Amino acid sequence: MKYDYLIVGAGLFGAVFAHEATKRGKRCLVVEKRGHIAGNVYTEEVEGIQVHKYGAHIFHTSNEEVWQYVHRFASFNHFINSPVANYKGRLYNLPFNMNTFYQMWGVKTPTEAAQKIEAQRKTAGITEPKNLEEQAISLVGEDIYRILIKGYTEKQWGRDCRDLPASIIRRLPVRFTFDNNYFRDRFQGIPEEGYTSMVEKMLEGIEVRLNTDFLKQKDEFEAVADKVIFTGPIDAYFDYVHGALNYRSVRFETEILPISNYQGVAVVNYNEREVPFTRIIEHKHFAFGTQEKTVISREYPSEWQLGVEPYYPVNDAQNTALYERYKALADLQDKVRFAGRLGQYKYFDMDKVIAEALTFVHAEFSE
Ligand code: UDP
Repeated sequence: MKYDYLIVGAGLFGAVFAHEATKRGKRCLVVEKRGHIAGNVYTEEVEGIQVHKYGAHIFHTSNEEVWQYVHRFASFNHFINSPVANYKGRLYNLPFNMNTFYQMWGVKTPTEAAQKIEAQRKTAGITEPKNLEEQAISLVGEDIYRILIKGYTEKQWGRDCRDLPASIIRRLPVRFTFDNNYFRDRFQGIPEEGYTSMVEKMLEGIEVRLNTDFLKQKDEFEAVADKVIFTGPIDAYFDYVHGALNYRSVRFETEILPISNYQGVAVVNYNEREVPFTRIIEHKHFAFGTQEKTVISREYPSEWQLGVEPYYPVNDAQNTALYERYKALADLQDKVRFAGRLGQYKYFDMDKVIAEALTFVHAEFSE
C-alpha cells in the first residue's frame, strides 16, 4: 500500500480532508477528473479579473471556527452580496426588504409595508401553504410573488411553482429594515486572490493528479490506498445500478466587454419568465475591480442529463428515496467513504462543506 488515503475530487471537501490528513502524517493522493483543482469554486483570471467559472460563490458563515479556518489559506475582502432584480426594465433591491417594498408600493414605514403584505395575504386566503406558490404569497403577498418570484423560480427549476416544495423559498430572508445584505450570516467575503489560490494552499505539498478519472480505473486506484474518500456522484460510483439521480444544471455564457462597468453590481437577477437567463454576474464587482475591461456571465438554467455538469440536487421524494438506496450500498463499503455535495446528494453552502470535512477529520482521527 503506497497511500493511506486516496481522495477522489479536488473540491473543497477533498482539499480540506487531504490537508488535515497530511498534517497528521498520512500519505495522501488526490485524483481529479477535471483539468483543474477547486471543484465548482474554481476561479480563473481573465483580464486581471477573477472569474467564477461555475457560478457566483460568495463565502458566508456564522461558524467562527470555519471563518478562522479559511483565513489560514486566504485573506478575504469585505464583499457583501446585495443583488438587484430586473423585472421588465424596473429595478428592485433584494432580498425582500424595506427598499423592495418602497420600490414596489411606495410604502415608507415598516408598519405600512406589513399592512400591505397582510392585506394581500388575507385576499389570497392561504392558511397552511402546501407548495412554493402558496408559501411565497403567504410570506410576501401576491405582487412580490408575481413580479420577483414566479418567473425566476419557474426558470430556475423548470417546473410550476405549485409543483415545488415550500422550503426552497424559505431560504430567502424577508426584512422590515432597509438592509440589502442577501445573507443573514455574521461573516462574509471573497478570497482576495480567488478561490483557486485558496484551494492551492490547502493542497500544498500533496500529490494531485489532474485529468484522472478514478471511475475508469477504480480497481487499480483502490488497490493503492488503505482508504478512499470519494467526493464524486454516489450513483456514478455504483455504476447507476438503481438509475441516475436527477440534478438541475446551469450553463454559463461568458463575455469580455470593452467597458469598465456593465451593471454596477456583482449580481443582477432577471425575474421575467420571458428572459431565458436567470441572472448576469459581473465578476469584477466581487473584488471591487477597477480594470479597464469587464467580464460578465449570463446564467441559463437547464435540464440535467448524464454527461452534463450536475449542480443542484433535486431533493424531491423520488430522488430522496433513490439516494437512500445508494446510501444503503455506500454503508456496506468498508474502505470507501462518500462525502461532499455529490457524494451525499445534498446542496451544501461552502461553509457547510468545510464544517463537514472538519467534523469528518475529527471522527476519522478519533480526536
Ligand atoms: N428566488 C426568487 N427570486 C429571486 C431570487 C431567488 O424567486 O430573485 C427564489 C428561487 O426559487 C430560488 C430560491 O429563491 O431557487 C433560492 O434563491 P437563492 O438565491 O438562495 O438560490 P441559489 O443561491 O441556490 O442560486
